[in-house]
Amino acid sequence: MTQRGYGGPLRYVQGPGVLADLGIYVEPLAKSALIIIDGFFWNTLTPQIEKSLTERGVTSRFVRFGGESTDAEVARCVAEGRAAEAGVVIGVGGGKALDTAKITAFNIGARIATVPTIASTDSPTSSIGVIYSAEGVYDRVVRCGRNPDITLVDSALIIRAPVRFLVSGIGDALSTWYEARSNLESRSNNYIGDGYAATIAGSQIARACHEVLMRDGRAAYVAAKGGKLTQAVENIIEANTLLSGLGFENCGVSAAHGIHDALTALEPTHHFFHGEKVAFGVICLLVLENRDPAELNEALDFCIDLGLPTTLSDLGLNDVSPADLIKVGELAMLPSNVIHSVPVALTAELVADCIWTASSLADLRKSTRQL
Ligand SMILES: [Zn+2]
Repeated sequence: MTQRGYGGPLRYVQGPGVLADLGIYVEPLAKSALIIIDGFFWNTLTPQIEKSLTERGVTSRFVRFGGESTDAEVARCVAEGRAAEAGVVIGVGGGKALDTAKITAFNIGARIATVPTIASTDSPTSSIGVIYSAEGVYDRVVRCGRNPDITLVDSALIIRAPVRFLVSGIGDALSTWYEARSNLESRSNNYIGDGYAATIAGSQIARACHEVLMRDGRAAYVAAKGGKLTQAVENIIEANTLLSGLGFENCGVSAAHGIHDALTALEPTHHFFHGEKVAFGVICLLVLENRDPAELNEALDFCIDLGLPTTLSDLGLNDVSPADLIKVGELAMLPSNVIHSVPVALTAELVADCIWTASSLADLRKSTRQL
């Protein structure tokens, strides 16, 4: 009999001003906290966080995040955490600050709280952290054994970040349902423990992620560009953070992320955010799986409306050669790549041809669609 598994954060709280309640959620976890905070927020948020924790009898020790989630940075934070005898590690910032906090907590056996300041990554709710080299090159994934005890998303903070972060998060979240479907159809395992089949809960969350994006994505983009925190923006913050985070961990990723990872071998893509490259990967995935043209056009129109990349030239790859694309296809075919959970037989040539075709179909759509 197939075994199914599900995992997620113990608590998820979102809304304007919820950061002031941090102490309420941390108090039951531990009496001593290590806070790893993005340097950008050092002056503005540190006093507020300290006050919230002190009011609940939690002592705090602050570390200014160095900017990269490296082994050395984790070691520094672990030493600080041990010195503070921290029972909980709180990460405040973008994906890399949160990853460092999760891995630090894992190393010292502490509980985890995540406070994302942008809605552009799947890190806040997941049990997975990523280690990079000092130069920012992906090194490896660390499984932290537990999801955060609390994920606190202050939407008043999120709306103040440049809108490109929210849009990039939408690109990443757009992959969630399509990649979940790849895994469901190929009966691949998710990322809970050693890997299980997805639960109904997991797959329905991935589906809901897609529905919210299609319904509210455009309205949220317009509002967020003007700095307005509407219901649609709140819905998209939840889709990008909770629905996408739970969806990918409980169902698995596939070719949108697999092609993203392989494309990073081409230097021009380094100037784009993760979710922007994943959006192009989504178009490639739909071509690779030969999905219904109506579904492909829906995804293309959505990305085009939000300014997410859909062509090679959108990613600065106007001059990409056939040999470059074959190299990307070969990298995508490495056994360690996540592409293999698609329900189709793969070759490096097929991957390269689908990338080229996806880009060409997007060009065609841009020139022919009704505005
Ligand atoms: Zn992603």
